[in-house]
Amino acid sequence: MSKFKQLGLSKEITDALEKIGYENPTEIQEKAIPAILNGKNDIKAFAQTGTGKTAAFSLPIIEQIDTESKQTQAIILSPTRELALQIAKNIQEFSKNIKGLKTVCVYGGSSIDNQMRDLKKGAQIVVGTPGRTVDLIKRRALKLNNIKWVVLDEADEMLNMGFKEDLDKILEVTPNEKQTLLFSATFPKEVEAIARNYMNNPVELSAGKKNIGADTVEHELYVIPERQRYATLKRIVDMNIDMYGIIFCRTRRETQEISDKLIQDGYTVDSLHGDLSQAQRDMVMRKFRSKKIQILVATDVAARGIDVNELTHVINHRLPDQIESYTHRSGRTGRAGSKGISVVIANGKEQGKVRQIERIINKKFVEKEVPSGKDIVNAKLDQYVAKIKNLNVDSSKMDEHLENITTQLKKLTKDELIKRFVYNEFESLLNYYNKEGDIQRDQKREHTRSNNENMQRFFVNLGRMDELNPARMIGMINDTLDKKVEIGQIEILKSFSFFEADKNYTDEILAAFEGVTRRGRRVSVEKTEQQKSKSRNGDRGRDRKRSGRKRSSDGNYNSGRDNKGGFKRRTEKSTRKRKRRDS
Ligand code: AMP
Repeated sequence: MSKFKQLGLSKEITDALEKIGYENPTEIQEKAIPAILNGKNDIKAFAQTGTGKTAAFSLPIIEQIDTESKQTQAIILSPTRELALQIAKNIQEFSKNIKGLKTVCVYGGSSIDNQMRDLKKGAQIVVGTPGRTVDLIKRRALKLNNIKWVVLDEADEMLNMGFKEDLDKILEVTPNEKQTLLFSATFPKEVEAIARNYMNNPVELSAGKKNIGADTVEHELYVIPERQRYATLKRIVDMNIDMYGIIFCRTRRETQEISDKLIQDGYTVDSLHGDLSQAQRDMVMRKFRSKKIQILVATDVAARGIDVNELTHVINHRLPDQIESYTHRSGRTGRAGSKGISVVIANGKEQGKVRQIERIINKKFVEKEVPSGKDIVNAKLDQYVAKIKNLNVDSSKMDEHLENITTQLKKLTKDELIKRFVYNEFESLLNYYNKEGDIQRDQKREHTRSNNENMQRFFVNLGRMDELNPARMIGMINDTLDKKVEIGQIEILKSFSFFEADKNYTDEILAAFEGVTRRGRRVSVEKTEQQKSKSRNGDRGRDRKRSGRKRSSDGNYNSGRDNKGGFKRRTEKSTRKRKRRDS
């Protein structure tokens, strides 16, 4: 017996699932399907994109729909039309063996009259975006008085997009006796409020942080100077010759700009964002699905609901404003068991955000060097040569021209010929990468990362409040030690900081800072553990524990800085050294 059957689904449905290649239920399906089939409780489910949540809520609903009645029994709300269409398409596939079951999808930017006509014919399941759903309720084209199931899919995203009022309006007109199923990747307080206001003792389900894609997605990081962002993007695309993926941008404008630039530079890309009409979006998606375009440049919202399983890459040209959105982005690749790579391009100052994302995905980014021009040219040449080697030439079309061509090229040697043909193909690429130097890692890092075993991490009781910055910190360490040691990660917080330095100098550093003062206050440097403090809470926590400093009468902290912003050392040792230097 199939595993789906064991969960309580009928043969009509399991046959359909077999046809589309669902062999085993995913974790969320295993939990949600029996809960919805057998219980009447509301359900609050933590599930990210790519977990198989669409089937998790729609299969048990389909199983229980009364096809004798044409009344709407289930309403599924989703944040975007793309996602709504995707859900409706999935439901149609799942229910294709069930006679009399009808699903209608309603969303803005498309004829409301057609949707009203479809609804009039009767649809037991309606999938919709909140705005259009409210319009249709107002026009009495959609009646929710017989609703048995309400699904709020990607509830966090619906609230992010400002649909709170619409959700309230929709939920208010549904009967009390119903099962509400809320699916969300995150549970900020707005989502919790919806759960509190509209759900009765909900059962909580979680598919954990794992999704179908999670283990199959590799996360790569390129830390580059801001001005090299586009050049880096180009190199990543150039290096990954067979890439089929999405480049994520933060705004519509940026999306259009990047897409225009890439097109100008000869790449087969197109853009998807909110300024496009529905017809334009559909056209772009058709081209992308049929692989006429290799890369889609998209905003987060526009990319919702894109159900293309074989994406090789997701590139975060810029990190999303809300770091939680990163999981939605990376979840577009590595789907349904295939491998995927999620690439982040970030400047040095964005390292804090990168670290936060690592905590959310529970994985470390693999930091990569931007490929050199030489690497890219070699990769492209290899690919070209392989293509020529494997090319099937239709001789019947070539033979008649061959004699003429060979006569004309007779004087050229084989090497010369190869060189010319390849150069003709690669001239612009060779010229571009000949001009361009290598892209170095951005050194301007607020939170440089290092798990370097050769480094010791130190705590120091000075921070931003003392006008400390990374450059001054390095200066302070060098001055105090009176020699240059390798410095690693520097993390400046409000009232204290951390730095890493070559661990061979640990004792020397500790000794050198003994008795050092700044504006009369003792500077305290202590050994601490690698990469411990990151959070702002940590800042506050240590702040309270460590500072113990008093405000001076002028209201400033007595931080010991001299008038020129330098650091004073008032140890016997330093005085001796100074004297030696002076003499
Ligand atoms: P979803 O989270 O619903 O967007 O699903 C993510 C992807 O996983 C979609 O492409 C689904 O078609 C696919 N999928 C969902 N459930 C299964 C399953 N049990 N077996 C294989 N693929 C699945």
